[in-house]
Amino acid sequence: MKAVTYTLERQPDLPGACAQLTRETYTKPIAGGQSLGAMLNLRLAQPEALVDLDAIASLRACDESPHGLTLGAMTAHAAVEDGVVPDVTQGFLPKVARGIAYRAVRNRGTVGGSLCHADPAADWITAMAAVGAVYTVQSATGTRRIEAGDFMVSAFETQLAADELLTAIDVPRLSPDARWAYVKFCRKTGEFALAIVAVVIDPARDVTRWVVGALDGAPRVFDDPRLATMFADPLARAAWLANPALDLDTTRRALLDDLIAQAVRELHP
Ligand SMILES: Cc1cc2nc3c(=O)[nH]c(=O)nc-3n(C[C@H](O)[C@H](O)[C@H](O)COP(=O)(O)OP(=O)(O)OC[C@H]3O[C@@H](n4cnc5c(N)ncnc54)[C@H](O)[C@@H]3O)c2cc1C
Repeated sequence: MKAVTYTLERQPDLPGACAQLTRETYTKPIAGGQSLGAMLNLRLAQPEALVDLDAIASLRACDESPHGLTLGAMTAHAAVEDGVVPDVTQGFLPKVARGIAYRAVRNRGTVGGSLCHADPAADWITAMAAVGAVYTVQSATGTRRIEAGDFMVSAFETQLAADELLTAIDVPRLSPDARWAYVKFCRKTGEFALAIVAVVIDPARDVTRWVVGALDGAPRVFDDPRLATMFADPLARAAWLANPALDLDTTRRALLDDLIAQAVRELHP
């Protein structure tokens, strides 16, 4: 199958891109094209126009401060993997980046594109919820901020309106005594995960976040500080995973049981 016919405009700056999104035509932004390309070819997306974000330098800018890092939405996965952008997470984000797909995808795919695509099995959507990132979203009429844990509404659906762009991701700096783990199960290296567990425990900032990802919808965030101790006990872990509110099938429960046990070992080597 071939994509429907659409126009492609390469915008040089954010005001131009936001203005294009206010037009009457059904317009979609394109970042690295790694997901949208397939959606177009399968006709799962049928836009009349694309706004190409590739030339907008401000979307690749990164700014480090004592509080953390502001990451431009067009930052490629490979830039995080290679340390081209500073790491304020003691290796957490580079580990996540290294595990995404294959190098060719990581060269082109962007952090912002992955978040906006909102595939439940994608890595950044879960990882950014674990670090407590906050997103900046811009339209022709202004900007707003959205917490990572609230951004994804359901599979392939976010809080973004059709005329809004994700422009930046604020990642808080982890304290020196913070601990983290990021574990996932994939059938083959480079494939999307069938289950993900991300944990950030940062007592100096009063942060405990266990995030379960690759579910049917948005990742689930749990912030009970007693979880690390509870999860070290196999029986308590199994009882927690059997909670009907989690709505996990047997396979996913078994995968998550393994991953949580692995995360506990990584938190307390
Ligand atoms: C073979 C293969 C394997 C993969 N494996 C994994 C994996 O293991 N883990 C993983 O996490 N991902 C995986 N991916 C997805 C990959 O990470 C993509 O890069 C990512 O999902 C989309 O990023 P992109 O920059 O290419 O966005 P695009 O494909 O250009 O866009 C994706 C969507 O986001 C919208 N969009 C993009 N940027 C913005 C913005 N700034 N503001 C508003 N909307 C925007 C677009 O309109 C589109 O709807 C894989 C992809 C491929 C092709």
